[in-house]
Amino acid sequence: MPSARTRKLIEMDKRHVWHPFTQMKDWLADPEPLVIEKGRGAELVDTDGRRYLDGISSLWVTVHGHRKAEIGRAIRAQLGRVEHSTLLGLANVPSIELAAELVKIAPKGLTKVFYSDSGSTAVEIALKMAFQYWQNRGQQRRRFVTLKEGYHGDTIGSVSLGGIDLFHQVYRPLLFETERVEAPYCYRCPLGLRHPSCGIACLDSLETILKEKSGEIAAVVMEPLMQGAAGMISAPPGHLKRVRELTRRAGVLLVADEVATGFGRTGQMFACQREGVVPDLMAVAKGLSGGVLPLAATLVSEEVYRGFLFPYSDQKTFFHGHTYTGNPLACAAALANLRLFRKEKTLARLRPKIRALRRGLESLRGLRHVGDIRQQGFMAGIELVRDKATREEYPWEEAVGVKVCRRARDKGVLLRPLGAVVVLMPPLGIRMDQLQRLLRVTRDSIEEVTEEP
Ligand SMILES: *Cc1c(COP(=O)(O)O)cnc(C)c1O
Repeated sequence: MPSARTRKLIEMDKRHVWHPFTQMKDWLADPEPLVIEKGRGAELVDTDGRRYLDGISSLWVTVHGHRKAEIGRAIRAQLGRVEHSTLLGLANVPSIELAAELVKIAPKGLTKVFYSDSGSTAVEIALKMAFQYWQNRGQQRRRFVTLKEGYHGDTIGSVSLGGIDLFHQVYRPLLFETERVEAPYCYRCPLGLRHPSCGIACLDSLETILKEKSGEIAAVVMEPLMQGAAGMISAPPGHLKRVRELTRRAGVLLVADEVATGFGRTGQMFACQREGVVPDLMAVAKGLSGGVLPLAATLVSEEVYRGFLFPYSDQKTFFHGHTYTGNPLACAAALANLRLFRKEKTLARLRPKIRALRRGLESLRGLRHVGDIRQQGFMAGIELVRDKATREEYPWEEAVGVKVCRRARDKGVLLRPLGAVVVLMPPLGIRMDQLQRLLRVTRDSIEEVTEEP
């Protein structure tokens, strides 16, 4: 039973707060939504002092852990200087230093940084830049190629690029059309093939489109290695590299949406680096500030940047900016985040944890309703199916993913599903014993919910 204070907070929340991606009718009917008050490391604490393991990094953002001292100190130090100053017509110290650091760690060849404040805006900026880049060269290229099941954010431009009907269908009349090519969804291969003998046939449609229409296409936009919100659809090795080859050959820009995969999530700093790929534009957000403040960036190549360098009177300026672009507090947090990667050797120390996650996930394969398990580094999805032999899906009304996550919550672990896919996305800084507990609770919760008589 929640305390009187918690009950009061819940009542106020229900009276005034509209939650994202939430059917509020269900929320209002929930007698005990959690109200989080504190956090430390991989744990969150609710208003009644109950502790929970944060199994999804507070929706994929927390990197080293909650309330990491170095990041807090950096923000406080910056507060002692200035909290905000605009990048329109002025520069500020943390945004300069951060841009230099980002260029150092990014795939070689991305040399310029354009700031914004969310993944959606970072992608929105990339697509406007790609469109205008061609315009500035006197070419009308209006079309974008995206992957089916892709997710790139919730503003109208990034929703246009998205391919998840449940989220995006209702807005179709407002959106621009894109060319959609097959997602690398091996478990439910649209061509009926199975990796690894497939030769990545899902890219045949991309090859065809690029052959026939390259002169109309501004860019190919994709999530490298893992289509996150789609339900952790993991691309087979070589997929990304092949997209880069095809786009380069066709003279079409490649936009990598690394909003979810960036900052160590897939085991290297950026997913593109796994396959030695340098995109022309790259959107980053979620983990950029360590999961502490809203901050995003669009990194671009010298070539794209130069495509905007003209006399002002030519009207080829990139007319885009947000009020908080380059916010010094958020940039100071991001600088501290990147310093921690170096100081704590975060990526090297992640390797044994990735292996432990892999072993733990493998042990779930035997469960009666675990259909597929997909992992890229510290990003994983467990697809639950009604019938393993036929891969029959659970009907969505059954909300099996929601039930599993609710069960895990009762056991002190916070998860959030994507349909029938249970997502595991712990902070990179999670301790090994916490990771083992996360895996144990996930296993028990799946077993109890799906194998109940
Ligand atoms: C989360 C996400 C976005 C959107 O980021 P917001 O900060 O929520 O706007 C875009 N692309 C990908 C791949 C994401 O995972």
